[in-house]
Amino acid sequence: MPELTHHQRSILKAMLEQLEEELKDLLSITEAGTKPVKLKDNQGRLSRMDELHNQSILIANRTVTSNRLKAVLQAKQRLELDSYGFCASCEEPIAFKRLEAYPEASMCIKCQSENE
Ligand SMILES: [Zn+2]
Repeated sequence: MPELTHHQRSILKAMLEQLEEELKDLLSITEAGTKPVKLKDNQGRLSRMDELHNQSILIANRTVTSNRLKAVLQAKQRLELDSYGFCASCEEPIAFKRLEAYPEASMCIKCQSENE
């Protein structure tokens, strides 16, 4: 697997920066929805259940989003330390195609699938 070229690194750096913005936006947009559900007198039991259900989905999605944001920030750190693009497990270069799809990836496809 060839190492990333300077050009590829700058593409991925821009992708990571954009991803960071998008994930931060997503977290702030959905923040209001995670507040405790208030009981309303005029609301039936079913709609409250719906509301709690929707809220649990929202919170689960936010967890995914904030974990991804953490991974993005770690990837940006690796860019600065010049360890970006190398597998954290086997230390081989990670394929550019994979990084294009997941710029925050810290492992090559082989190690990632062994890890799951
Ligand atoms: Zn690996």
